[in-house]
Amino acid sequence: MAKKHDSLSDSINLPSYRGDVVYSCIGCESEYSLDDFLYTCPSCGSLLKLLDRSFDTLKAYPGSRWRDIFDRRRMSNHPSLSGIFLYHELILPTVEPEDVIYLGEGHTPLVQANEDLAGWARVPFSVKNDGLNPSASFKDRGMASAISYLNYVIRKRDIPEVLGICASTGDTSAAAALYLSYLPKGRVKSVVLLPRGKVTPQQLSQPLGSGSTVIELPGVFDDCMEIVEELAENFEVFLLNSRNPLRINGQKSFSYEVAQQLGWDTSNLVVVVPVGNAGNITAIMEGFLDLYRLEIIDNLPTIVGVQSSHADPVYRWSMTGKYNPVEVTPSVAQAAMIGDPVSFPKVKNLVEEHFGSRIFVVRVSEQEIMEGMLTANRHGHVVCTQGGESIAGLRKALEKGLVGKTDTIVVDSTSHQLKFTEFQQMYFDDSFPPEYGISTRDELRNAPVALRADAREVARYLNLKKK
Ligand SMILES: *Cc1c(COP(=O)(O)O)cnc(C)c1O
Ligand SMILES: [Zn+2]
Repeated sequence: MAKKHDSLSDSINLPSYRGDVVYSCIGCESEYSLDDFLYTCPSCGSLLKLLDRSFDTLKAYPGSRWRDIFDRRRMSNHPSLSGIFLYHELILPTVEPEDVIYLGEGHTPLVQANEDLAGWARVPFSVKNDGLNPSASFKDRGMASAISYLNYVIRKRDIPEVLGICASTGDTSAAAALYLSYLPKGRVKSVVLLPRGKVTPQQLSQPLGSGSTVIELPGVFDDCMEIVEELAENFEVFLLNSRNPLRINGQKSFSYEVAQQLGWDTSNLVVVVPVGNAGNITAIMEGFLDLYRLEIIDNLPTIVGVQSSHADPVYRWSMTGKYNPVEVTPSVAQAAMIGDPVSFPKVKNLVEEHFGSRIFVVRVSEQEIMEGMLTANRHGHVVCTQGGESIAGLRKALEKGLVGKTDTIVVDSTSHQLKFTEFQQMYFDDSFPPEYGISTRDELRNAPVALRADAREVARYLNLKKK
């Protein structure tokens, strides 16, 4: 008897395309080999992006064939195709499949808002819950690509020792520490720099739990970033901030997944995303652009970036055309509390060259962010404050007529509710320090009720009817 054809996964070959990926300067367009760890252009100091010089050879397949390849890979159980490297050719084809580090990232669910929540938002929408990544934020997408690359070069070049380092508003360090901890301890050390008192206890516990060296510094994220940039410029370290374009490429997977989850139909698609350092919105735009160039999708989506009024440099730029860093004030969307976003020049280029009138930035209040989060979570979601910011931003965009009632709307919840329970508690206790400008509404409060261990007392409290 002929051997039965096993599973579909056996018929899927591991990707053989390795591309011709180099660093490319977004300022002077100089190109540099990936062999050195670079974060800014050595000749002009601008940001770098990754450029696959043989990208056009991918056009040998029509879009339908790529869609089919990606759809078939979703059924594979091979670890190097299970996460963001399902889209290997578009993420970082340089990395050999054997070097891919997969810790369970990507393929996060798209959860529809129920009728009540859609009614509250005044439009149907879905939440892509990136809080369901392994370290509970979307940062895992970019770490999976950067750390897989590191793993690849360590093997290829037999590098004896490397120090991975980042500054963070909390989630980058959690993700970096997690992914670095998977690599051989003898070779790979892990250090994170955090602004003291400006990350939540859960976020602080994550790099500590992963065994990272955690350094706390006074100031805010922007101050830590300055230190880490100086270190990256002058010392042998592997920088894991989103200035590192290896990270941005992994984060493009968000867009590939959204398109795939929608059956590759991106007509009238709107994607709403909170903006901090602007790495995520950059990656999301680049991701859709890749799919569009390969004719995997027929339309670019509309992008709505959302910022808090307490950290709004990108919003101000969108209104005035002038970019200036701002002084941030405390925000519940703490992971996006950034006054001088590193990736802003990339956003500007992408808008000018490709997205034009397909991108908007809206601004929301701290009060709206909290109420967005609490309301969503009262209707079956587990979104973080930045997810609340996205939902508040959707309402704002709708109010301003930037989004239509019949659009397909996807809201990015960038991390998990449980990372930000402190802010939930402050709301319930009505104990926000005045600088947040948040007051509590009774209908969104909740608190445990202490009763005696007595069924009748519980029944009386609940007003239960006798059978
Ligand atoms: C990092 C982060 C953001 C901001 O993303 P940027 O790429 O910095 O714009 C938003 N939400 C969460 C939960 C984050 O961790
Ligand atoms: Zn340059």
